[in-house]
Amino acid sequence: MKWDISKIDSWKAEEFPLGAAIPEAGNSRDYRTGGWRSERPTLDRDTCTACLTCWIDCPDTSIRVADEKLAEDWLDLDHCKGCGICANECPVEAITMVPEGCELPGVK
Ligand code: SF4
Ligand code: SF4
Repeated sequence: MKWDISKIDSWKAEEFPLGAAIPEAGNSRDYRTGGWRSERPTLDRDTCTACLTCWIDCPDTSIRVADEKLAEDWLDLDHCKGCGICANECPVEAITMVPEGCELPGVK
C-alpha cells in the first residue's frame, strides 16, 4: 500500500495512518530488547563499589541487585539493549562496553 502524503501538512489527526497499536501498558517485558544489542556491558567487580547508580539509571531494568550489591547474574541479557548508560554513569568506570562476542580477560 502506498500513501499519498502530498497534503500531509493539512491532515487532521484522524487522517494519519495507524502505525502501531499498543493494547496494554507495561508490555515491554514481553519483548527481548537484548536482540537489538551490538555492545554488551561487562563488569569489573574489583572496581565496583556497589553504589548502584547503574541499577537506578538502567532504562530497561536489566541490572539485578542482591544483598545491596550487583547480583552474581547481574545482567539480564534478554532485555539489556546495550545503550551504554550504565557504563557512562558508573562513577568508578567499573563497567566497560564491549562488542558482542568479545571477552575481556578477568572481566565478566
Ligand atoms: S555504577 Fe559502577 S560502582 Fe556503582 S554499582 Fe554500578 S558498576 Fe558498581
Ligand atoms: S547497557 Fe543500557 S540497557 Fe544494558 S544494562 Fe546498561 S543501561 Fe541497562
